[in-house]
Amino acid sequence: MSDILFQRASPAVAVRGIHLDLKGMPPTAERLVQLPEIFAELKINALLVEWEDTYPFTTYPELRCPTAYDEDTIRRFLDNAAQHGVEVIPLVQCLGHLENPLLKARFKHLREVATSAGELCPRRPGARDLVLAMFDDVLKTHRGHIRRFHIGGDEPWTFGSCPDCKAFADKHGKAALYRDYLMPLLEHLNAQGIRPLVWDDEMRRWPDEDLKRLAAKADLVVWWYADKLEGKAFGQDLVFPDLVKHFRSAGAHWWAGSAFKVSGEGDLPPVEKRAVNNLLWTREAVNQQADGVLATGWTRGSVTCTQVGGLETAWDSIALAAAIMWDGDMPPDAVAVTRAHLATGRCKDLIGEPFSKCFAASLAFKDWKQKMDTHGGWQWMERSASISFEPERINPFTDRRFFSIDKFRDELLAGVGKARDVMAAHRGLVPEFWLKRYVAARLFHGLNRYNLLVGSVHTDLRIPDSVFAEFR
Ligand SMILES: [Zn+2]
Repeated sequence: MSDILFQRASPAVAVRGIHLDLKGMPPTAERLVQLPEIFAELKINALLVEWEDTYPFTTYPELRCPTAYDEDTIRRFLDNAAQHGVEVIPLVQCLGHLENPLLKARFKHLREVATSAGELCPRRPGARDLVLAMFDDVLKTHRGHIRRFHIGGDEPWTFGSCPDCKAFADKHGKAALYRDYLMPLLEHLNAQGIRPLVWDDEMRRWPDEDLKRLAAKADLVVWWYADKLEGKAFGQDLVFPDLVKHFRSAGAHWWAGSAFKVSGEGDLPPVEKRAVNNLLWTREAVNQQADGVLATGWTRGSVTCTQVGGLETAWDSIALAAAIMWDGDMPPDAVAVTRAHLATGRCKDLIGEPFSKCFAASLAFKDWKQKMDTHGGWQWMERSASISFEPERINPFTDRRFFSIDKFRDELLAGVGKARDVMAAHRGLVPEFWLKRYVAARLFHGLNRYNLLVGSVHTDLRIPDSVFAEFR
């Protein structure tokens, strides 16, 4: 069954890339170093690596998270990628989604708007220098290993709204504001023989003249994650194949940006829907001669959103995206075929076994959470909590007569066991620090809500602090 995938003698798409969004459930150093071999097994030949705060930044060490990799790990990862024929394309954001630096006091004066932590002001003195320092930090380890560098650039929500930028944009246009900011960054990379890639969403409204100047220095990554290649995007009605034609007519090289995992779709990707998106973009990439397809896998909607499941629970979606990029098509019953593929041959040890363990544990945890979020027991507890404001009327037997709090408490605490299972399945693959964060984000809200409601009436039934301490 599994030999239905990767059938063609040569691939439909020349550069088949997978995006690693490391700001959610990053792999352990050992797993990271192993990834190029795994991806090569899936005939993936490019990795778009969004290091985010896992990178060992040196100019501004405060940009590192507590589990940031060391330089040796980065170099071993790059060496392994080269050895397995996998091109690494690092990604460092240049304008929006810069919450990591802009939430810190040292850099907040560089925000476009004081009350939005995501966007840099393109005209503020020191703003471009911060981005260049981050680029150069990444280049320090990647130089000699890379020929492309993704500079992000998507979704700068408040772009052009500070008084200085607004005055400039009113006079010259927003495209010129963006372009003037971008050019020195592009030239910095071009001078080192590196081709920059940039997300296309801001350029969708650019005049031809500006597009032509950009196209000389960078490639556009046209992204859209729906199951049709058209729709309303940031207030624009777009037909993406037409947009690509427009970019190409301005001389732009382009990449298709699909998605194997979207943060808004929950912890486990809806694989069929993701496959449709990947297939549509793969066909468009073939029709309109894209330089490649980059299948993105978002772990957080932005730096400041809760994470969803990481790589280890998405291998089915990743492998199917890889097969689609290779074959230019997908077989009937594609999800079952892909899961069977992961359970055989070399894929079995590298991906299949960890995937089946992590997936089963995460699915059980997800089902538990869904059941508890909508449990009818909460209403009974709300009722008993209300009467607690008239203490003399509290009937200590009421809750046990109409609704068994003890049983509800047991059901709630069953989540603790499932959280432990998720952590055990991922152990060695994702650092303990992030596993605790992941399960706590799903566990603590319900436990806190329960304690708040039950606390004044049945203090003996409170969930003790020791339960929380295990995941802190
Ligand atoms: Zn500004």
